[in-house]
Amino acid sequence: MSTPKKRILVVDDNPRNLKLAFDVLEDADYEVVEAVNAEEAQSMIDRNLPDLILMDIALPGMDGLTLTRKIKANERTKHIRIIALTAFAMKGDDQKALAAGCDGYITKPIDIHQLPVQVAEILGGSGFAS
Ligand SMILES: [Mg+2]
Repeated sequence: MSTPKKRILVVDDNPRNLKLAFDVLEDADYEVVEAVNAEEAQSMIDRNLPDLILMDIALPGMDGLTLTRKIKANERTKHIRIIALTAFAMKGDDQKALAAGCDGYITKPIDIHQLPVQVAEILGGSGFAS
């Protein structure tokens, strides 16, 4: 018997970022689902709880930090691990991400070798900051 795959929800409004993260994580043997905005992410979480969310902060409409606060304020979803995707140029985003309840953050552009390592670390329980 094999253990069920961990489910990861990738939220990003940039199609290239979304595809890159999707491909890298699928190659690392995760079940990957994707959403292009916070509203879509919420309905996906309602349908099927992910184990981890890769959360872009800058999203059209509701931003990723607001969605993170809602997820972490909800008994049903607060256990979900969340890694924020922050833009390198946006100073202070990393601290804002942790303050909003994110379990860690990754600075874009995504490093395709580091991403699976960082995701595995967070799923393993220990926090980190890149
Ligand atoms: Mg974005």
